Amino acid sequence: MKRNNDFGGRIEVICGSMFSGKTEELIRRLKRAQIARLEVEIFKPQKDTRYNEYAVVSHDFNSIPSTPVEHSSAILLYGSNTQVVGIDEAQFFDDELPEVCNKLANKGIRVIVAGLDMDFTGKPFGPIPQLMAVAEEVTKVHAVCMQCGAPALNSYRKTDDLSTVLIGEKESYEPRCRACFHHL
Ligand SMILES: [Zn+2]
Repeated sequence: MKRNNDFGGRIEVICGSMFSGKTEELIRRLKRAQIARLEVEIFKPQKDTRYNEYAVVSHDFNSIPSTPVEHSSAILLYGSNTQVVGIDEAQFFDDELPEVCNKLANKGIRVIVAGLDMDFTGKPFGPIPQLMAVAEEVTKVHAVCMQCGAPALNSYRKTDDLSTVLIGEKESYEPRCRACFHHL
């Protein structure tokens, strides 16, 4: 029987609403990989320029240096020694991202992807649903509903701006549970 004990190739997805701690969990896993002296590379979509162009920054300002890329295929061009790839704000990437992640994982790379699983209307967001399907492991993290305190899975938009990408999210969104999101 063939045993793949040395084969670290896998896809992990960390998803949830805004303020659910996705990026914190991504950073926690990546830092542990760095402590284990693994070669780590981190990517994010070019358009996410909220705080710092070259760092993955979570809301509590815990950060690791990252490379902004315009198209997911560019992730395949980096670091031949890379053992772990982290991808943040993955919902803003193109539809090729699941295939890119599969290619990396098939080469033995551990791929950890964090992103919003639903947009502000409650619809599955960008390439995240496809990634969840092909991943070895999916972790859904929850925020706290700002209306009732229950675990929150939705990002409720408090403004009337209808573009899906909206900068300055802290003022524009609040996490809500199913009942409060749908006004049940
Ligand atoms: Zn609620």
